[in-house]
Amino acid sequence: MALKALLWDVDGTLAETERDGHRPAFNRAFADAGLPLQWSQQEYDRWLSISGGHERIAAQLAQLQGAEPEASLVAALQGAKQEHYRQLVEQGALSLRPGVEALLREAAQAGLLQVIVTTSGRGAVAALLDQLLGPLQQVFAFWICGEDVQRKKPDPEAYQLACSRLTTSPQSVDTAEVLVIEDSANGLAAARAAGLRAVVSLSHYGAEAVLADPCGAAAVVSELGPEGQVLLGPPCQGHGLTLSYLQALLP
Ligand SMILES: [Mg+2]
Repeated sequence: MALKALLWDVDGTLAETERDGHRPAFNRAFADAGLPLQWSQQEYDRWLSISGGHERIAAQLAQLQGAEPEASLVAALQGAKQEHYRQLVEQGALSLRPGVEALLREAAQAGLLQVIVTTSGRGAVAALLDQLLGPLQQVFAFWICGEDVQRKKPDPEAYQLACSRLTTSPQSVDTAEVLVIEDSANGLAAARAAGLRAVVSLSHYGAEAVLADPCGAAAVVSELGPEGQVLLGPPCQGHGLTLSYLQALLP
């Protein structure tokens, strides 16, 4: 079967956004508000189990204050955090993970449809793609973002929405011809629940949970590109984790 579409997660997959972007942005927002909160890399791992920045701030404030936080404070912190994230991205705090740019180009040259499927906000995605990809972001046929769905990953809604657009596209892509690239257990669960094949490129925060339960991943790799190692799944026959490796993951 020929691979016709790649569905890309954003956070942790394109770049280490959680470690180098979102976490410091939360900390800057907390500091601005005079709150005695600074999430270390290790501590942030725990807060990441709560999906969504708004929800994460609310849970942290509830713990700090011993009561439900005021909605206005949560909203203000989330707004400040989003602005700090955009600034961090524009200041060059983030870079593409290995192999990502080469695979985007290779897949585009091979005529594959490429789609962004994230449940992060569209503004954060736009800032990141502008900074890290520039004109190369045109390889994406469309984006599914947090604003497009009711439920965040691990719910399959974002992937189901992407699939419904692909199957009705002029190329009429079947879900069996699709491969998802994710970095986390939540993302993998979302893809699998939508009936999709997924390869996991382990990220700083995603690795531990995925390795503990790789629940149906077609492959788990350390990273994409020439230095990528296959940790689970079919061995790589060629030179590095390129499009031909991903193609071989389809039956
Ligand atoms: Mg991710």
